[in-house]
Amino acid sequence: MVLLEERVQAEAARLNHLEVRGERAPWVVLVRFGELSLKKGHLRLFLGVLRRNIRGALRGLPISRVDIRPHRCFVWLEDIAAWPEVKRRLSYVFGIVGYAPCLRVPTTIEAMEGAYHLLVPWAPESFAVRVRRADKTFPLTSQEVERVVGAYIQGHTGAKVDLTTPKLTYYVEIQPEGAFCSIERVSGLGGLPVGTGGKVASLLSGGIDSPVASYRMMKRGCQVVFVHFTSYPFTDASSWDKCRSLVSLLTRFQQESKLYVVLLGEVQRRIAVSVPSRFRILIYRRMMLRIAEAIAQREGCLALVTGESLGQVGSQTLANLFSVQRVATLPVLRPLIGMDKQEIIAQARAIGTYDISIEPDMDCCQYLVPPKVATASTPELLAKAEAALDVPALVQMALNTVHVEEFRWP
Ligand code: ATP
Ligand code: MG
Repeated sequence: MVLLEERVQAEAARLNHLEVRGERAPWVVLVRFGELSLKKGHLRLFLGVLRRNIRGALRGLPISRVDIRPHRCFVWLEDIAAWPEVKRRLSYVFGIVGYAPCLRVPTTIEAMEGAYHLLVPWAPESFAVRVRRADKTFPLTSQEVERVVGAYIQGHTGAKVDLTTPKLTYYVEIQPEGAFCSIERVSGLGGLPVGTGGKVASLLSGGIDSPVASYRMMKRGCQVVFVHFTSYPFTDASSWDKCRSLVSLLTRFQQESKLYVVLLGEVQRRIAVSVPSRFRILIYRRMMLRIAEAIAQREGCLALVTGESLGQVGSQTLANLFSVQRVATLPVLRPLIGMDKQEIIAQARAIGTYDISIEPDMDCCQYLVPPKVATASTPELLAKAEAALDVPALVQMALNTVHVEEFRWP
C-alpha cells in the first residue's frame, strides 16, 4: 500500500484539487475518540478541551477548521502537503483513539466509488470495504453499502474480496457532513484530554521512573507541573539539564509546562548535621514533599505525583512510603506502584524519555547519603530524627531558591 504520506511529496498540488463527479473533494482528518460513557456535562468539557488541544497541536499548519461532534472531530486541511506533520502532531494528543486522512465527497454511492479510484490508483491484490453509517437518514445500511461498493470495486479492478486479511481496506463513514473515504488509519494515544483531569505536581528526578509517572498522569487528563530538586551548586547541574530535556520532550503531550527547580543542597547540609545517616534519604524525601506541596498549592494542584514503585529500592518499602507521606496533606499519587522495572523501562522507551534518563547525572538523593537506608521507618522515628530541625524555616529557605522555567510545544 502506498501511504498518502509518500504520495503528497510527489503530487500534493494535484491531490489538493481532486474532483469527484464534478465536485471538489476536500481533505479532512477524521478523528475518533473513546471514553464515550462520559456523562452529559462531562462530555461537553471533554469535547471543548479536546478541540482546544487538537487546535493547539496543529498550530501554524494549514488547517481551515476544527469541528467537534459528540463522536467525531473533523480537521479540515487546506493543503494535503501538511498531512505528514499533522499525522505526527496528532500522535501526541491524549484523548484520541485513532484518525484517518479522508476525502470528503457527497453522500452517494457513485461518489464513494469515485473516491476509491482517487485514493487507490493502483490495483490491490485483495480488499475489503468497511462502512459506518452514522447518518441514519442515508437509505442503505452499512452492510448494503459495503456490498454495493465492494461489487463495484471488484468489477472495475478485478481485485478479490478478502474480509479477514485484506491487503487494502476501504473505509467509508457516512456522516451528516458527507461521506468520508479513506484507506489508512493511524492509532492515537487514547487516554483523556489533558486539562479534563485537574492539575498535579510531579516530582521529577531525572531518573527513569518519574517521567513515566508524569506521562501516565497526563494520559488521565492531568496538567502536570514539574518539580525538580538538585544539590547544585554543591554538585554539578547535570540532573537539572536532564530534567530540562525531559520536560521539553514531555511537553509534547500537554503543550505547556512549568518546571520548578529547587536548590536543596543547603537544606541537605543542615539535615546531614543532625539526622542519623540511615534516615537521611527519608528526611530528604519528607522535605521534598513539603516543598513540593507548597509549590503545588501555589499552582492550584490537587495532588503530588512520584515515580515510586513498591519495593524497587530500600527507600520504597511500604513502611517508608507511609512514614514519608505523613508530612503531606495532598494525596501522593504513584502511578507506577505496581509495575516492574522492566515494564517501566519499556514505557520509557516508547515515550522516548529512556535515553535521556540513562545519561549519568549527580542525583541529589546521593548527596551526603550513605549507601544503606533504613527499610522499616515509622512516622514517629522520622519525626524524632528531624526534631532538631526548624522545618518551616528550611522549607522557606528552599522555596527562596526556586527557579521557574516554561516550555511550549509545538
Ligand atoms: P526515578 O527513576 O524517578 O528517579 P528511582 O527509582 O530512582 O526513581 P528514587 O530515586 O528513590 O527512585 O525516587 C523516588 C521518587 O522520588 C522519584 O520517582 C521522584 O518522583 C522523587 N524524587 C527523587 N529524587 C528527586 C529529585 N531530585 N527531584 C524531584 N523528585 C525526586
Ligand atoms: Mg532517582
